[in-house]
Amino acid sequence: MPREIRLDCPVAARCGACQMARLPYAEQLRRKEACVRELLAPFCPVDPIVGMENPFHYRNKTHAVLSGDRAGNVVSGVYRRGTHQVLPVNDCRIENEKADEIIATVCRLLRSFRIRPYREDARAGLMRHVLVRTARATGQILVVLVASQPILPRKNDFVRALVAAHPEITSVVLNVNDRATSMVLGKRDIPLYGPGTIEDVLLNKTFRISPQSFYQVNSLQTEKLYKTAIAYAALTGRETVLDAYCGIGTIGLCAAEGCGRLIGVELNPDAVRDAAFNAGRNGVRNARFTCMDAGQYLLRMAAERRPLDVLFLDPPRSGSDENFLSALCTLAPRRVVYISCNPATLARDLAYLTARGPYRAQRATPFDMFPFTDHIETAVLLSKGKADA
Ligand code: SAH
Repeated sequence: MPREIRLDCPVAARCGACQMARLPYAEQLRRKEACVRELLAPFCPVDPIVGMENPFHYRNKTHAVLSGDRAGNVVSGVYRRGTHQVLPVNDCRIENEKADEIIATVCRLLRSFRIRPYREDARAGLMRHVLVRTARATGQILVVLVASQPILPRKNDFVRALVAAHPEITSVVLNVNDRATSMVLGKRDIPLYGPGTIEDVLLNKTFRISPQSFYQVNSLQTEKLYKTAIAYAALTGRETVLDAYCGIGTIGLCAAEGCGRLIGVELNPDAVRDAAFNAGRNGVRNARFTCMDAGQYLLRMAAERRPLDVLFLDPPRSGSDENFLSALCTLAPRRVVYISCNPATLARDLAYLTARGPYRAQRATPFDMFPFTDHIETAVLLSKGKADA
């Protein structure tokens, strides 16, 4: 690992997205590993953190807020730390470079089409945000234009000009967000060009991703994380496996051919549709996906005494909930692989499972999915009884 990799970003202090902007990359890794070691000290040993060779431009999802300047230009950027003022950012070090070029083109086109950026204070104007998703393996690109109304003046000309400037764009979607909210996307997606989704490849499986579905932002590190998670599961080919908080089904579908039966549960209906589609897309016939709160689903499984051998869970930052964890202790699958994007809630949930359930944490590996930020991803293996995994 080279020693002195630095962010060198002129807007880092005002932007705030890269909380570790001032630290050399090796020091970031050291701190993240130490943080996980400390939080997991009561539970299990922690393997060295898996970092990136080249920690720049790793994000496959780029989100820009739009605003107007005095000269009538449309500018894109991020909210200044702690405010709702837009700080122009044109060459972010962690976002995909092609995505940034596309966003710059959208800004130019908006001006020449006389389409006004949305103004939060006056609740006037049309275009609020641009979201670009790039698929690392396939090169497909999805552009989501987030507008305050379901109209885009001269939309065919606009899309034609955008795709002419960037022929690598494979889909354009108009998303309607008419609410005063800090959520970027509204509920309604209107496809303007292409299928309205993109496909990426992870561990030789192809995944369709809809605009509203969650997808890990760092595809290279995601493959390393999934490989470790699947190795932790030590599947033999006969197990019933549950992928909880499964998103578009990525972890479970990558593990499916090694198990008997795969069930996935996820709250977001678009993601569940993607997961079911992705099973078919990859010829996986032993998988079923359900749209439901994961805690409710586990309670039902426990009440029905359904068998479960291995559980993957990958909850949001808030961690899992009491319903989920208590039902998990009742179902008592042989192995639990907990993937976490927040070591604090991970430690809280491990305390529950090891105190109230039959589990011991066996080992853990942190992954740096988000270089220059303070976010940490961790995979933990729990199994029943003594430390023997
Ligand atoms: N395992 C997937 C997704 C992880 S992100 C992957 O690696 O890509 C967490 C997922 O949990 C999101 O898709 C989110 O929509 C879902 N989620 C959030 N709260 C949930 C709940 N209460 N029940 C089920 N799924 C939930």
